[in-house]
Amino acid sequence: MNLYTVNSGNFKLDGGAMFGVVPKSVWNKTNPADENNMCSWAMRCLLVETNNRLILIDNGLGDKQNEKFFSYYYLHGDESLEKSFAKHGFGFNDVTDVFLTHLHFDHCGGSIKWTDSSKTKLEPVFKNAKYWSSPKHWDWATKPNPRERASFLKENIMPIKESGQLNFIDKECEWLPGFEVLIVNGHTEGMMLPLITYKGSKVLFCADLVPSVGHIPIPYVMGYDVRPLETLKEKERILQNAVMHNWTLFFEHDLVNECCNLVNTERGIRVKDMVRINEL
Ligand SMILES: [Zn+2]
Repeated sequence: MNLYTVNSGNFKLDGGAMFGVVPKSVWNKTNPADENNMCSWAMRCLLVETNNRLILIDNGLGDKQNEKFFSYYYLHGDESLEKSFAKHGFGFNDVTDVFLTHLHFDHCGGSIKWTDSSKTKLEPVFKNAKYWSSPKHWDWATKPNPRERASFLKENIMPIKESGQLNFIDKECEWLPGFEVLIVNGHTEGMMLPLITYKGSKVLFCADLVPSVGHIPIPYVMGYDVRPLETLKEKERILQNAVMHNWTLFFEHDLVNECCNLVNTERGIRVKDMVRINEL
């Protein structure tokens, strides 16, 4: 198995919303805010190459929405999904599986594109791929509650079903040899986290359970989470496992840090070493 980091670009989100009840005087040290109180975040995805599959985990926010939409999110940086794929010698048609941790727009928007410049029809970006979601999450996302409605954009979601390429993983399992799936419900209902056996250890794709290094302390939970107390319990359980088995955490949204290992300290769970996938 081979793992390749693919960065689909950076965007900005309100620092306070990203850190929930944590005061700015604390989070601003790890994630400095701009004059509008916005912090920069990566949309870092992962390609998993096995003997017969090429699996893309999440795919950033894509390019379908209008200027007004993108003006809220300040896209920046030189990276794109296309460039990152090319760097590793892959094309979009090589992807056999698109694994969607959840259907918030910054995780699944790259799944679907306009067929042409008239912008009337939508189609899958990954023509040869099966797209994977969890049934509970699909149901949740397609009947959105008012709090998450702005994160579930139907143009990102419905065409996946209409294409016939939608598939489901319905429970925690070893989905493929060496590719386990954990399911958590604090950030949103039925978010799936890949746990991948790689070079004698395991890599946890943290998605929005732990979006960045700044979110490692257990109470540092995003304001966006629908069930923050559930996230606390899920982080405690999963990060203690990560310490015990020396898992590597992979961060989707950390602008600078790709991965780390963890250690228990007197102050709680903290970073042991920063690492990168290509150094494992
Ligand atoms: Zn996110």
